Amino acid sequence: MAFYESPRLGTRFAATSVVAFIVIGIVLAFGISGQLRKREEKAATDHALFVANSILPYEVTPQDVVSPIDPASDRFRQLNAVVQGRLLQPPVVRLKLWRRDGTILFSDDSSLIGRNFGPEGDLEEAFSGETHSGVSDLSDPENILERQRFSKLFETYVPLYLQGSRSSVPDAVAELYTNYAGIQQPVNQLFRTLTVTLVLGLATLYLLLLPITRRVAKTLSGQNDTLAEQAEQLRSLLGREQQRVAELRELNELKDGFVAMASHEVRTPLTSIIGYAKTLRRPEFSDDPAAREEFLEAIERQGDRLSRLVENLLASSRIEDERGRLTLVPVSLVDVMRDLLATLGPRARRVVVSLPPDLPVVVSDPQRVELIMTNLIDNALKFSSPGTSCEVTAWTEGESVAVSVRDQGIGVVQEHLDRIFDRFYQVDSSVTRGYSGVGLGLSLVKELISSLGGTVDVSSVPREGSTFTIKIPIAPTRGGNGWPGHTRETEAATSP
Ligand code: ADP
Repeated sequence: MAFYESPRLGTRFAATSVVAFIVIGIVLAFGISGQLRKREEKAATDHALFVANSILPYEVTPQDVVSPIDPASDRFRQLNAVVQGRLLQPPVVRLKLWRRDGTILFSDDSSLIGRNFGPEGDLEEAFSGETHSGVSDLSDPENILERQRFSKLFETYVPLYLQGSRSSVPDAVAELYTNYAGIQQPVNQLFRTLTVTLVLGLATLYLLLLPITRRVAKTLSGQNDTLAEQAEQLRSLLGREQQRVAELRELNELKDGFVAMASHEVRTPLTSIIGYAKTLRRPEFSDDPAAREEFLEAIERQGDRLSRLVENLLASSRIEDERGRLTLVPVSLVDVMRDLLATLGPRARRVVVSLPPDLPVVVSDPQRVELIMTNLIDNALKFSSPGTSCEVTAWTEGESVAVSVRDQGIGVVQEHLDRIFDRFYQVDSSVTRGYSGVGLGLSLVKELISSLGGTVDVSSVPREGSTFTIKIPIAPTRGGNGWPGHTRETEAATSP
């Protein structure tokens, strides 16, 4: 998982900072020039106010505000001379003197005098005593003539109180027009200066920041890679741990199952032995040799069963440690079978052994060979009915001796065949199963034969029987697969 990708961050920074810089530039340029415009407009208003109030109250007479001044009269010329000479100085470009009803009483443009444009908002406001100013786009009908000379004007309505007038209401309203170009020019100039400064400043800042960001992005990218690597390692560690926990849990379940099964397997023959022993002590059996013999045989059988179980358990727990410690001596299968049959008691009657007389002696571990054969024969007798026999045959096959144990028992269905050599695996593992055992025998056979450098195979037909075949190397192959080593005894036994 990538927490962060450096090229994307770099590009994103470049794009967003350009946008941010442009926005900052525009806001600054418009904000500052807007404020300057306001200041310029205020200055224009103050100027108009000052000019109007310092000249007009003294030059305009009460007579002048009664009716429009005839442009052809001397009075007009006189007033116009004053206005032209003192009032209409740049940036003031026009004067209109209004009567309350919207009639122009006087203007430096004589063609406007006497015209009535009706009482309108700005005029009303000025007659109520308030100075009012604003930008005019010259769209009003009264501006018909200004439109020809200017594109935009700044108009200021000044309430006019004539000298000596006692009225609280303005006698007239003077409207002064200021050329807006005078206001606009410094604003434009400032805007240009600001724009150039900001563009240069922000571009420099941008160029300075870009390499820093690149470096930071690179560092972050490196850290991100390390983090991703560590996360990956953690994930795989976690996976391994989870697997281990699952294995341990499975092992624990196996252990619990095994303990339950082993206890059952120990308790059953023990109960039988104790039962037979108690029965034997009863006086009615003291002079019944046949019954005594039968009970003693049963005790022996159950004892053997217990002994085999214990032997298997011990062998299974030792096998890991003793894998490398084989006791290699010449082993005759005839001797092995003879000893083995002797331990089977009455069950030996069901075992038919046919070994060829020229069967070679193998150099192997006799205890292991015997344990293998004991388990195979024990299974063959256990999983077949008492009326059937179990055949043990052997032959030479290449460098090995093959020994097969064939029974006419219940057999194993194909789907279980692969698994019967697994530790604790039983085709029927229910508590109500009809056969004793803890599922250790065949796994032990497999491990033991492999420690001897041999193999084990099985073929089986359900309800007809099974044949287990082991192959034991005649001579140990040094360094061969599954042939880890041998003791001094081996050397003595194999040396000529
Ligand atoms: P167990 O203690 O149950 O005999 P083994 O490891 O010896 O354990 O055998 C595993 C399983 O393989 C047995 O439970 C049984 O189901 C099956 N099996 C082994 N030998 C034979 C056989 N000769 N005939 C039928 N089934 C067999």
